Amino acid sequence: MVGESMGTRITRVHGRMILDSRGNPTVEVDCQTEGGIIGRAAVPSGASTGRHEAVELRDDGLEWSGKGVGQAVANVNGPIANAIIGMNVTDQEAIDQAMKEADGTPNKSVLGANAILGASMACLRAATGPGEIWQHISSEKPTLPVPLMNILNGGAHANSNVDVQEFMIVPHGFDSFPEALRAGVEIYHALRTVLKDAGLLGGVGDEGGFAPDLPRNEEGLRYVVNAISAAGYNPGEEVSIALDVASQEFLHDDGYHIDGRVLSGSELGLLYSSWLDDYPIVSIEDPFGEDDWDSWIEFTSREGHRVQVVGDDLYVTNSDRFSKGIEIGASNAILIKLNQIGTVTETLQVIQMAKEAGFGTIISHRSGETADSIISDIAVGTNAGQIKTGAPARSDRTSKYNQLLRISEQCNDYAEF
Ligand code: PGA
Ligand code: ZN
Repeated sequence: MVGESMGTRITRVHGRMILDSRGNPTVEVDCQTEGGIIGRAAVPSGASTGRHEAVELRDDGLEWSGKGVGQAVANVNGPIANAIIGMNVTDQEAIDQAMKEADGTPNKSVLGANAILGASMACLRAATGPGEIWQHISSEKPTLPVPLMNILNGGAHANSNVDVQEFMIVPHGFDSFPEALRAGVEIYHALRTVLKDAGLLGGVGDEGGFAPDLPRNEEGLRYVVNAISAAGYNPGEEVSIALDVASQEFLHDDGYHIDGRVLSGSELGLLYSSWLDDYPIVSIEDPFGEDDWDSWIEFTSREGHRVQVVGDDLYVTNSDRFSKGIEIGASNAILIKLNQIGTVTETLQVIQMAKEAGFGTIISHRSGETADSIISDIAVGTNAGQIKTGAPARSDRTSKYNQLLRISEQCNDYAEF
């Protein structure tokens, strides 16, 4: 029984506005099939958004502080529904292609990547039916990803003086995902105590990590190492550190503004090298700006043998930008965000490209999230190896970890870092 005999034709596509974790509007879509299955998906939203990302359609105007999604929702219920109703929901590539054609622009600026992605993910859910998405998309041996857990927030995600956006812990030295998660959670709570003892405990940032003011960025590394030890784990052996510098946010005309200094790309690279010498850092994301290719090449050729160098704003999950990066050796890993490119198909294609090039792949949330945990399934099903989905706190982040715990009951092969 395949195709239309199972009632897999799309009969209804319905978009609506819901709120994201920052209290801003976002798009949710229901996709219904002839057989009565309803797939539902919600779209996340970034704050430190890359300039080359596909366009997130916002209404502007006074309502919702200019962040309304009325037009994006109308596009789901109008042109997108018209383009895909009647198609076979299991034909994800054809559905995504039809939506791209209905949009007609390279960056999805007419219908909006938020509108298109909502429909694309809802179709994937409907196609999966009562099954599991990670099994539905799995073409090779699925694994539970190593989590990159953002426990200290700075940059655009916090109201602090810390330039580096994310200090993450990487519990790689464990036999299973549940054990690794437990270590991460214990370290998160230990960091609370470490910061409290130092008189630095304030609120949390957008991804649930603590958000202290610090005299220098390097202090964040020191506190995280202290927290790993305080929780009884061995820094570098069992649990290491990953950074997302999100450096585009502090790149100005005269250079990179960090720690109250202004540095060139080469000087900034040397600062990272000194951190690599002194701390158990295994991954650095967006160490340089989104168009500063030369600094990326210089740093990756010098340090790529001892650290994962991850392109996020650099590649924006876009195959053209990523091809260039592979060719010139700009990094050795890529961050994958569905809403940077706007369809499930294109996302899976970029993951495949990365695997063929021998690059690391990290499936990522956005700083503005919903309870939708589709990225957990995608990380497992594609055998991505790594997931980045914030602190183990607040439902918008724990929904992803909790979905991984559920999956680990059926599939318990923990990825190698
Ligand atoms: P964003 O941050 O979702 O605000 O873009 C996440 C990241 O930079 O990785
Ligand atoms: Zn990033």
